Amino acid sequence: MPTVNAYAAPSATEDLVPTTIERRAVGPRDVLIEIKYAGICHSDIHTVRGDWGPQQYPLAPGHEIAGIVTEVGAEVTRHKVGDRVGVGCMVNSCKECANCLAGEEQYCLKGMVGTYGAVDRDGTITQGGYSTHIVVTEDFVVTIPEGIDLDVAAPLLCAGITTYSPLRHRGAGPGKKVAVVGLGGLGHMAVKLAHAMGAEVTVLSQSLKKQEDGLRLGADHYYATSDAGTFEALAGSFDLIINTVSASIDISSYLQLLSLDGTLVNVGAPAEPLPVNAFALIGGRRAFAGSMIGGIRETQEMLNFCAEHGIGAEIEVIPADKINEAYERVLASDVRYRFVIDTATL
Ligand SMILES: [Zn+2]
Ligand SMILES: [Zn+2]
Repeated sequence: MPTVNAYAAPSATEDLVPTTIERRAVGPRDVLIEIKYAGICHSDIHTVRGDWGPQQYPLAPGHEIAGIVTEVGAEVTRHKVGDRVGVGCMVNSCKECANCLAGEEQYCLKGMVGTYGAVDRDGTITQGGYSTHIVVTEDFVVTIPEGIDLDVAAPLLCAGITTYSPLRHRGAGPGKKVAVVGLGGLGHMAVKLAHAMGAEVTVLSQSLKKQEDGLRLGADHYYATSDAGTFEALAGSFDLIINTVSASIDISSYLQLLSLDGTLVNVGAPAEPLPVNAFALIGGRRAFAGSMIGGIRETQEMLNFCAEHGIGAEIEVIPADKINEAYERVLASDVRYRFVIDTATL
């Protein structure tokens, strides 16, 4: 078993530290990836700190992985040495349930295997992308097309697909009015993608602080939700609202912004239940929906779409010894719009 450099949390209450982790030997259908960049997702922080349940430590998070293939197993057909590849939020699934067969592995009925902190199908605990190398079965490795740099590609593997999937699934495109709630790591990708799909895009943010950015990223309109007048002015306006905020917000008042048959899709995951006023749904035949990342086929489609449209994430590249500081800045919403770790510094 190869031992590789990593940055991991020793416990839920300690800072991440430099360490080494074990990777499995490359099996017949495995790909060994030399990781070049790993994005920092808000989920990493929630997970290592135990907010979403107890974990096994040490835990190396990271599920926005971009790198180069350095070895392939004898039966691998989808990738070869030297390929530019990515790994997102999952590294395995049962591959035989109805959802897996439909290419929606993220909704595997037996539970998909998360890229870190999950029990893999061989019983080992997965370790994520804050490391120099990772071994992944070829089915869960996607190709990063030429035309997207690896550093700006990394966040596409979670933030990109998380927003691309509901936009596609709900028909964002020309003639559709799409609102994006929150302009953070997920929100800024939602704006870029919805704009590239041809939709009319509105950002709904707490304040107008990031208005200039929002318009530059492709938004047509920008409103502050701290201004009560916004909800009156925009009532009944949108075909689709993507809520990227993982804090509790008043969903019912956002539902009122939907037009007839409009849908509000939650991609953020607040720990507390979100109360919904049924009148906000029935008065306008509206829907309140959820969405979680995307399948492998759709993730590849998203990367191809991004390459075609020249889309990458807006990033700040950091060395590994700035990870803990970056966590504090993510929690303070002080990042425009994704931290990406240069894994050469591990
Ligand atoms: Zn994520
Ligand atoms: Zn399955």
